[in-house]
Amino acid sequence: MDRIHTRRYHRSVLAIEFIDTRLGPDLDDAGVTTRWLFHRGIRSEPTPADLAELARLQSTADHLLRTAVTGEAADAGAIDHLNACSAAAAVAPQLNWPVNGRPRMWLSTSGDSGAHVLGVIARSVIELLTGERARLRVCEAHGCRRVYLSASARRRWCSDACGNRVRVARHAARRQLTG
Ligand SMILES: [Zn+2]
Repeated sequence: MDRIHTRRYHRSVLAIEFIDTRLGPDLDDAGVTTRWLFHRGIRSEPTPADLAELARLQSTADHLLRTAVTGEAADAGAIDHLNACSAAAAVAPQLNWPVNGRPRMWLSTSGDSGAHVLGVIARSVIELLTGERARLRVCEAHGCRRVYLSASARRRWCSDACGNRVRVARHAARRQLTG
């Protein structure tokens, strides 16, 4: 039985980072992906076949999260794929409580670690879509299109950098109108 340690890591954030072109794993590089997963409390060294499956899950997750923002109908095949990834991994939260230590959660898995990783990420997508869906946004700054969790209803960009670009673009547009 594998033991996979999970730190207190916001589960929903995992789904968003996984599809992010800047924060997400480089699925062409097994070493980089291993470290990316490790920093998120997931111990696994993906094989080339695992990386291909992760890439498939990435496009499924990307489609479903963007669909949640636009309100379009989700692709039935994408939903089936996500559910299959979640179902393929038998993961059980386990309590580890050392003497004089704090109780911590571990995830034990009896399946192979590639399926485990897919399951953990798929469940993060499910938790996000069924939990904080109302806070999901797609950045409106030109050329960004990043999916993010909004802290306020009025903010329509993912970062300060994108916010500045939106303001500069608005300013330029106003000057063109008045000048
Ligand atoms: Zn942005």
